[in-house]
Amino acid sequence: MSREESMKPALDTNLPPANTMTRRSALARVVVLPLAAALPAALTGCSKTLRCEDTSGLSPDDTRLRTEIAAYVDQSTDPSKHCAECVQFNPAGKDACGTCKVVKGPINPNGSCKLFVKKT
Ligand code: SF4
Repeated sequence: MSREESMKPALDTNLPPANTMTRRSALARVVVLPLAAALPAALTGCSKTLRCEDTSGLSPDDTRLRTEIAAYVDQSTDPSKHCAECVQFNPAGKDACGTCKVVKGPINPNGSCKLFVKKT
């Protein structure tokens, strides 16, 4: 090995030159990169959750009824009990907080409380 050859960095000569694009690498760029770019937006869309928790305008009695007596929760943990399926729920449209005939304040269609009565 000459002195000049020993000065060169050790490179894997089996790899294609850097400016050569193989079919596989081109396909990876066409398919993988757009998916990688879309992933954060998809995750953000999935994580967008309706919140109906602003009770700042309620009286102390209404707040107590909502939080202590009815024990309203904005996201039901029981799949069979959602405000959207309760007789007391008044919907306000898609992706909007509705109201309740009993519990004051904004009501999430996915919420629930102890006073749930299923629509028949
Ligand atoms: S009574 Fe309870 S479960 Fe029924 S709509 Fe009102 S807050 Fe939701």
